[in-house]
Amino acid sequence: MGSMARPFTRAFLLTVAVQLILVLNQNLALASEGDTHPQFIQCNVRCQSDCALEESTGAEPQWRTWDLWLTGWTCRENCRYKCMQEDVALRELEKRPTVKYYGKWPFRRVLGLQELFSSLFSVANFVPHFQYFFIWRKVAPATYFMKPLWTAYACSAMWTWFWSAAFHARDTVLTERMDYFGATMSLMFMLFLSIVRVARITDRRRWVMLGIPFVLYFIGHCLYLHFIHFHYGYNMTFSIIIAVAYLASFTAWAFVNRKRPYMWKLIIANTIILIFAFFEVFDFPPVWSLIDAHAVWHAATPIAAYLTWSFLLDDATYSSYDLSSTIRRGNKYYDQE
Ligand SMILES: [Zn+2]
Repeated sequence: MGSMARPFTRAFLLTVAVQLILVLNQNLALASEGDTHPQFIQCNVRCQSDCALEESTGAEPQWRTWDLWLTGWTCRENCRYKCMQEDVALRELEKRPTVKYYGKWPFRRVLGLQELFSSLFSVANFVPHFQYFFIWRKVAPATYFMKPLWTAYACSAMWTWFWSAAFHARDTVLTERMDYFGATMSLMFMLFLSIVRVARITDRRRWVMLGIPFVLYFIGHCLYLHFIHFHYGYNMTFSIIIAVAYLASFTAWAFVNRKRPYMWKLIIANTIILIFAFFEVFDFPPVWSLIDAHAVWHAATPIAAYLTWSFLLDDATYSSYDLSSTIRRGNKYYDQE
């Protein structure tokens, strides 16, 4: 344990240093042009005062249709939406480009849902993890050393996609925090799992030692974002670093072991993630006010999830078969990776 502790302490210090650098390099504000337009501000002020009047008289809100009631829209949130739509229509008439409002593109609300397609695609991302949670528990050999870890990952992914669907349906402080923190948790978990698989760490005490810096960093990350400053730029940079580390380590390992007949699944899955991740970087305004780059990104990842789960099952079967056949031959098992 003692000889293991030093590299992990070093790894932890390194992660803290990375966090500090990222925090210090942050841009301090997420600029949104739309909400600074005089036309938008005037409309919003007028509408908000109507809300105040409505609240003081306790009158039944005229604006609240059943779908807005069901999805919990407040009068002030509805003002921002209405004024944003007015501003968008005016800019369209004047042939000026679409801009963001409060850090987001102006989407058309459908049945009270803010970003219909991102929300639907998040549900589509939930499905493979839900299905494979059961398939994996049933089919993956009980002797496979990573069985409990990938089971836990399926739960983490389901949690993440549930909140992603909720956040894209209704943007509130709670759903935003849960979506962002859930995504970070799943990404960090994926990196952790890829390291465990690539290095073939079978000893559970080593899982804990490797996991501690991950957990500590994750806690620090969430506390910083929630209590000090919810900084989108830092969060994005950190997510990219973790995702690149995961993709690089797992894909390189899959490529080295490409002779195994199922490795292509992981290589294709990671290539899909890499290609569609560009949609996250090269943002564009929503087509038909409904589908933006982020929605396209969410549309692609279920395919990668199915491929990854299929790879995991093959890998579990292959590794377990490998192990039992070497034991049958009476040889001391060793991994050839
Ligand atoms: Zn999303």
